[in-house]
Amino acid sequence: MTENYKDRYKYLVQILNQYSFEYHTLDKPSVSDAIYDSLFSELKKIEEKNPEIISPNSPSRRVGNAISGGFNKVAHSSRMLSLNDVFNYSEVTQWFERILKINKSIEPVFFADIKMDGLACSLIYQDGEFQQAVTRGDSFIGEDVTSNVRTIKNIPFFFNDNEYSFLKSGRTEIRGEIVILKKDFEKINDSRLLQGETPFANPRNLAAGTIRQLDPKIASKRPLRFIAYDILRENKDEIRTNEVAYNMLTSIGFERNRQASKISSVKEVVDFIEYWSERRKELDFNTDGLVVKINDRNIFDNLGIVGKQPRGAIAFKYAPEEATAVVEDIIISIGRTGATTPVAVFEPVQLAGTTVKHASLHNSDEIDRLDVRIGDTVVVYKAGDIIPKISKVLFEFRNGKEKKFNFEEELKNKFPNEEFYRPKGEVVYRLKNSDSSILLKKNIIFYASKSGLDIEGLGEKNVNALVDSGLVKELSDIYDLKKEEILKLERFGEISANNLINAIEKSKNPTLERFLASLGVRYIGNETAKLFAKEFETIEKIKKASYDEIINIKGIGEKATESILAWFSEQENIELLEKLEQLGVVVKSFSQENKQGSLAGKKIVITGTLKDISREEFAKQIVENGGEFQKTITKDTDYLVIGAKVGSSKLAKAQKYSVAIIDEDKFRANFL
Ligand code: NAD
Repeated sequence: MTENYKDRYKYLVQILNQYSFEYHTLDKPSVSDAIYDSLFSELKKIEEKNPEIISPNSPSRRVGNAISGGFNKVAHSSRMLSLNDVFNYSEVTQWFERILKINKSIEPVFFADIKMDGLACSLIYQDGEFQQAVTRGDSFIGEDVTSNVRTIKNIPFFFNDNEYSFLKSGRTEIRGEIVILKKDFEKINDSRLLQGETPFANPRNLAAGTIRQLDPKIASKRPLRFIAYDILRENKDEIRTNEVAYNMLTSIGFERNRQASKISSVKEVVDFIEYWSERRKELDFNTDGLVVKINDRNIFDNLGIVGKQPRGAIAFKYAPEEATAVVEDIIISIGRTGATTPVAVFEPVQLAGTTVKHASLHNSDEIDRLDVRIGDTVVVYKAGDIIPKISKVLFEFRNGKEKKFNFEEELKNKFPNEEFYRPKGEVVYRLKNSDSSILLKKNIIFYASKSGLDIEGLGEKNVNALVDSGLVKELSDIYDLKKEEILKLERFGEISANNLINAIEKSKNPTLERFLASLGVRYIGNETAKLFAKEFETIEKIKKASYDEIINIKGIGEKATESILAWFSEQENIELLEKLEQLGVVVKSFSQENKQGSLAGKKIVITGTLKDISREEFAKQIVENGGEFQKTITKDTDYLVIGAKVGSSKLAKAQKYSVAIIDEDKFRANFL
């Protein structure tokens, strides 16, 4: 790292504090939570690599923000902490592994709840009677918001009679989240719109803004709700586990999430996360994830705190749909039709569950519209398809060192031997002297050539005839040719038409290396294609590969890396692959080519009771035939083999991942 990271760090500290102030103190965020989280992750990465740099004012060191005037300040009996965010399953596993390093005898028993997106609040009760409500503030000191919180209808002023009689004496603190339900929020905004007022931005900020204004009459009119997640007593032994704490909350009269539950393994934590990944959208309130804590509160306390976060808990955040990235370079790819596309390249970021490293910038007009420059901090998002795009530049990050990208000049620099032009009325620069049909012909001839898929009958003359007649408008159309159509062309007779159809049919199951080389991706010839095939095994994996994964392959250089990334970042190329697949082209995976056996390269899961063979024996047969036996269904699973008495959850999962479902007899007949 250069000196640059120090400036970047300083700036991140400053801007994140500003965002935090806008969010926590003014209740008016200027960026989305996903943008904040993404920049915060970048800051944490810099701090992890360079601990000497950590500023005491870093947002990683402080919770919330400065308290605004107007309310009395109240010190918390114990800090109201923030939580450590994790974004994927392996980070969940790593979290528990870190805990085991501290004490290897800790059992994997957790308590998990939905993470509500509202305002944290602590309610203080004396002898079972409500006394005071305090915001989280900076974690040590909060604001006394009792008058406003008193207006919240689902907060009991007295504890219900219950089996935990000790709660009726002494001090009890209830912690929870103040939220506004989605449906109530919509009603409020509908009526504001009717009265010509600006709608509120989101339920979280409305709830927080309502509690942190000084007039309880306003609070009483807003449908606030308190959902509890913790209960604290001076004598900690009275509440041994979070499971017990939640039972207590219910019995003394608090609303708490019914979905919260005890979980007894890391795997079940992952299942819980999966279970809520879509269903959370149907909850009454907004949530961005889940909270998972060690169930035993004594163990939890002993694990302690790092910075502002307890070691014994995590917040799992579902994959964000936008993230921030710093544009390192803009490369230009030339598509199969001669169209040029600029592609932004950046350090890998996590986006919608995948790692991305590049985003399409469409054309030079889009670069101008966004005013994106090399060195800019930008927001990337995924809109339905797999190719990320840039939604905006965060101009507040500009420091004057960014480089403007002159598209025409770059075309000259990068492709000195080619000429480009921009057809009138079009936004895209194209290769000169090669209208799209010439390029299409070239591509098909190359695809079908000896060094490509070797399709006899698809030489220059036939390809010209097929394209000129309009029968073939794009490469994939060759797999949709009908004999009757071909026969209408002068060049073809009965035999030659049959031969061509057969030759095309025979090319439908190419090896990965040949297929890749035949696509005509710049700098990806046969040798390079072989290296790709060996490393990644399937076209799907190549599609998802990151810059670092590719450049680290011995024998593959910068140009080939950029070229393949650019190729896969173009929508038309992805569509081509999809069409080829729909038309029956099945590319052999590399291991399939190299391993023998009817199931080479296939991943198989078994469910239900098998007829007269044990599961172990069946698994052995799968392996002997080159397949891989899996215990659980993953995205990579090829077949789910079903016996008798099958559970519905496996079937649903197979459907979710589009795994082929096949019964035992059919599977045996086809493969074993
Ligand atoms: P956090 O993510 O660290 O989570 C801790 C909080 O989760 C607790 O204080 C508690 O109130 C809440 N919570 C909700 N449900 C819970 C449950 N079931 N059990 C336990 N706790 C539960 O939250 P934070 O420190 O308040 O804020 C950090 C987050 O705020 C960031 O991740 C970011 O998304 C957002 N933020 C956004 C901006 C912005 O400009 N958009 C600025 C600052 C912070």
